[in-house]
Amino acid sequence: MEQKQICVVKKSSNMKVSNMKVNKKLIEEVVIELVGEEALPIVFYLKGKKRISEFIIAEELDVEIHRTRNLLYRLYEHNIVFFMRRKDKIKGWYICYWDFNEPIILELAEKIRLEKIEKIKVRIQKEENNTFYMCKNACERMTFDNAIEHNFKCSECGQIMNDQDNTRTIEFLKERLKELNSTKEKTKKK
Ligand SMILES: [Zn+2]
Repeated sequence: MEQKQICVVKKSSNMKVSNMKVNKKLIEEVVIELVGEEALPIVFYLKGKKRISEFIIAEELDVEIHRTRNLLYRLYEHNIVFFMRRKDKIKGWYICYWDFNEPIILELAEKIRLEKIEKIKVRIQKEENNTFYMCKNACERMTFDNAIEHNFKCSECGQIMNDQDNTRTIEFLKERLKELNSTKEKTKKK
């Protein structure tokens, strides 16, 4: 049977990837972070297989075809899967055959790590450059400007808000930053 073939594979970016190993845990982390836990069964089903029809995926995982497609496209948006579309000559419609783009996991994991580092750096800067105010019930945490607007009174419980020592928060964030940075070091040594 002759079939028209269209192959769609997004080009991989030029980002340098460390020698981190793709394992189950890393796949889970990346997929959950970018798409959600509900997409995991599809990824693990496709792992190690080639060109699986979306109808087969839906059937095997016992997930409705529209929902299966929706999850596949969401994965595709992040380049985690790719597909080939073939026209079925007999039925006359197009069927997509899917593959798990396993090597992209490393690239995505690195991207996520760098984004987290950036976020934490911004957060540390905010903590270091501001004084925060809180009531003794810890209802809400406010910056100085915000606290002035509220006359240093908690809008929840009405108690006076005092400035808060955020040394431990900063220490915690710096520790987290160190952890994220050391992930790279560990993978470099491997
Ligand atoms: Zn309060």
